[in-house]
Amino acid sequence: MNTIIGMEVHCQLATKSKLFCGDSTTSKDAGPNINVCPTCLGFPGSKPKVNKRALDFGVMVALALNCKINANMFFSRKSYFYPDLSKNFQITQYEIPLAVSGYLEINNKKIRIRRVHIEEDPAKLNHVGGDITSAKYVLADYNRAGVPLLEIVTEPDFESPKEVREFLEKLSSILEHLEVYDSSWDAALRVDANISMEGSERIEIKNITGFRDTERALAHEVIRQRGILRMGMKIQRETRHFDAERRVTKSLRKKEFEEDYGYIFEPDLTKIEISKEWIEQLKKEMPELPDHRANRLVKEYGIDEYEAKVIIYTDKHLADFFEHSCKIYKNYKEVAKWMITYLLKSLNWHEISIRESKARPETFVELLEMIDKNVITERLAKEIIKDYIDTGKSPKQIVKEKGLEGFKSIDLDDVIKRVIDENTKAVSEYKSGREKALEYLIGKVLEKTKKAADPKKIREMILKSLQMI
Ligand SMILES: [Zn+2]
Repeated sequence: MNTIIGMEVHCQLATKSKLFCGDSTTSKDAGPNINVCPTCLGFPGSKPKVNKRALDFGVMVALALNCKINANMFFSRKSYFYPDLSKNFQITQYEIPLAVSGYLEINNKKIRIRRVHIEEDPAKLNHVGGDITSAKYVLADYNRAGVPLLEIVTEPDFESPKEVREFLEKLSSILEHLEVYDSSWDAALRVDANISMEGSERIEIKNITGFRDTERALAHEVIRQRGILRMGMKIQRETRHFDAERRVTKSLRKKEFEEDYGYIFEPDLTKIEISKEWIEQLKKEMPELPDHRANRLVKEYGIDEYEAKVIIYTDKHLADFFEHSCKIYKNYKEVAKWMITYLLKSLNWHEISIRESKARPETFVELLEMIDKNVITERLAKEIIKDYIDTGKSPKQIVKEKGLEGFKSIDLDDVIKRVIDENTKAVSEYKSGREKALEYLIGKVLEKTKKAADPKKIREMILKSLQMI
């Protein structure tokens, strides 16, 4: 049973003001319904005016996704009644989108992009006391109404939820490198996904936030749809919602069709010409894109392609962190190794991004320098990195405060000998067959070396010494 998935990805463009009025887009600290005006609320007599920066951003993304950009741009009204749009229509693009026919490559597979268009975001609805299917009541916040959105529609080229996640990670990295979006914004990337089993009707899952939940929602839907088909039943075309807490999809409504929305061209906005000169100018201004950057990191720093990709596609700020660290510490391969293996592990454990953490290149490289200078062992450094992410204290400070200097030069033979001498009771217990006594002795050695030595090695060495007694 083959899985077929297509997506519509909505990305909030990080312009300073909204798409058709001068209101601020950053409503984080504003109370609800503060960043609003007659235009984004659709009062009579108000007229929209297009934010050119949003169009610049749209064109840059379309270029990065290898799309064909239409020479003329139109906006349309999509009419529907819902409390998230006070004017009862959304200004979007329908008949002629900004760009068409692109692709994005993931693991040597081309995912075709059907279209890219710009539209305004509706208001944010806060479902109080439950989710969309169970809330007691709903609060509407129009701060978000009119924030520019870029909608990227793919062809149904995905064969698994995992491919979808890889695509989203790569797309997000491109958007971050272009500096057109801020991943720290709440719901900056939202996904509507169509999923079907070959030969069956498709299901749309609406409004999923983030990569992880998109992958989870689709994985759940694969199992659910296969189950229905195995029981010999049919799948009904419908729209579903993903309950992120319970990790299941729930039925929302029977699917409506695009034609039902009664699109008309927006009479308040004229045609906008996207000239070749405009596109050329933007091409010149475009920052380095992730694929190019990955190749450059391999060449410039001699790290593996795999390492370069992990660093770049995890988070642009991680890549910036890497390059910054390499400016002050010259063993680039060690920087990559420590970032990927230990720094990233600690960040994942805390579920924070590098930007949210207190890690800084200047303090991070201290750790590597201390290993080089035999101040600490690698094993100890792995312990310190956890403290470092937790507290933000510099590794040098952590080592000093804990009195950990000089454990590289520790004579393990000597410590083991001392532990054996000091714990004759445990030794004789072990000799008479009590396995647990060995763990106790290992614990004592770890204590004396402040966990700087490897427990496996300690075990081997203790066993060897005990044989000789
Ligand atoms: Zn406004």
